[in-house]
Amino acid sequence: MAIKNAYILDLLARTEKRNANEPEFIQAVTEVLSTLEPVIEQRPDLVEAGVLERIVEPERQIIFRVPWTDDNGKPQVNRGYRVQFNSAIGPYKGGVRFHPSVNLSIIKFLGFEQTFKNSLTTLPMGGGKGGSDFDPRGKSDGEIMRFCQSFMTELCRHIGADLDVPAGDIGVGAREVGYMFGQYKRIRNEWVGVLTGKGIPYGGSLARKQATGYGLCYFTNEMLKANGMSFEGKTVLVSGSGNVAIYACEKATEYGAKVVAMSDSNGYIYDKNGIDLDLVKQIKEVERKRIKEYVNVHTDAEYHEGCAGIWTIPCDIALPCATQNEINGESASILVKNGCKVVSEGANMPSTPEAIDTYLANGVLYGPAKAANAGGVATSGLEMSQNSIRMSWSFEEVDEKLHGIMKSIFKACDDASKTYGMPGNYMAGANIAGFIKVAEAMKAQGNV
Ligand code: NDP
Repeated sequence: MAIKNAYILDLLARTEKRNANEPEFIQAVTEVLSTLEPVIEQRPDLVEAGVLERIVEPERQIIFRVPWTDDNGKPQVNRGYRVQFNSAIGPYKGGVRFHPSVNLSIIKFLGFEQTFKNSLTTLPMGGGKGGSDFDPRGKSDGEIMRFCQSFMTELCRHIGADLDVPAGDIGVGAREVGYMFGQYKRIRNEWVGVLTGKGIPYGGSLARKQATGYGLCYFTNEMLKANGMSFEGKTVLVSGSGNVAIYACEKATEYGAKVVAMSDSNGYIYDKNGIDLDLVKQIKEVERKRIKEYVNVHTDAEYHEGCAGIWTIPCDIALPCATQNEINGESASILVKNGCKVVSEGANMPSTPEAIDTYLANGVLYGPAKAANAGGVATSGLEMSQNSIRMSWSFEEVDEKLHGIMKSIFKACDDASKTYGMPGNYMAGANIAGFIKVAEAMKAQGNV
């Protein structure tokens, strides 16, 4: 979207200068600011209070050394990050990512997005994100544990149940959260809900594992209904085969859709009969192997090297659930040409700006990540509540609350898009609805 407002253009130029060499962060800031023009024009008080200048600057950024010893007794070093972006409406909250691509730009883009996402959930959570350039792939269980313990040895000084509550993300699942929780408890000598995504026997919430994928489908279902459509009988592509992708595939199938493709960072599988999700779970969750193993069992399915090829398969609905910028302008054009009518994002910022422009120009229903994938953090918020009241809710209770939250997120996006003159633009609606709550809180708390 082209930005016309002089104040926003100037702020963006200053933000780019201050954060040179952080392309993902600038991409996320540009996307949000480009949709806030009508709000800025109607709310000069927020400009006056310096809310925008402050909202693009993290409250705190922590970068630290993570030394650990591999199975051969050799010392290894990685870099750890925690960016505490915004605490206006609650304690910092956001996942931890372990992936070789992790750098400050990626953690800042994720923390910035998280601030608005958490605001949309209706729960009292601020925004934060963390991670490391550590690659868990191919590491032994002992190496993963030693790395997680070292990471937490430093991180535990900066987090707390009422201060900053990390969770999982790419490369960080229940196993890693468990090791980090154990180390926090040992060093700080306190049992508190300082991490979410914990195992069920020690304070985890039922339905947290399913929450992001299920939530994505609950949100998408609302968006489809509002536009006279449904999942029933639709052909769906789901990229990735991790936590979000698996449970998005499960719920879309339950809604009557046929998921025909999934992927990992090496390639994608295409099964015209519909993905056998039990097999994907066995390969990815139990055996921790590559998705290409799928075609050894289903010999009539196809495996192709490379990730982007998945978007060349004709579909009605695309659910990108792997990583940032996985759909570029070219892939978006191919999706549109092949008849795709809906793109709803499970991953964070999976569409490049060119891809988003292509969706909007071609009338594709677009569910932006900060709204569509907010079910994970919303359920993390429910895990925090259960830990605080020393109770565990049933799967059905949590799932019902999650469903209610996703419906209210869609309504907030829809309402804001209409109020600010951009009906059907759920990206603008999500940015505006998420922003206003945080901005009001920041203004009320003064220049801090
Ligand atoms: P997982 O680690 O469980 O799975 C990630 C999946 O994406 C894997 O299939 C992985 O393949 C693939 N992938 C990772 N990096 C790349 C890459 N550079 N190129 C292509 N494929 C890649 O992570 P999650 O499912 O938890 O997270 C997926 C996305 O959803 C991320 O963007 C995350 O930020 C977002 N998200 C996650 C939430 C959660 O609750 N977990 C909440 C909200 C958003 P491989 O196995 O080969 O590495």
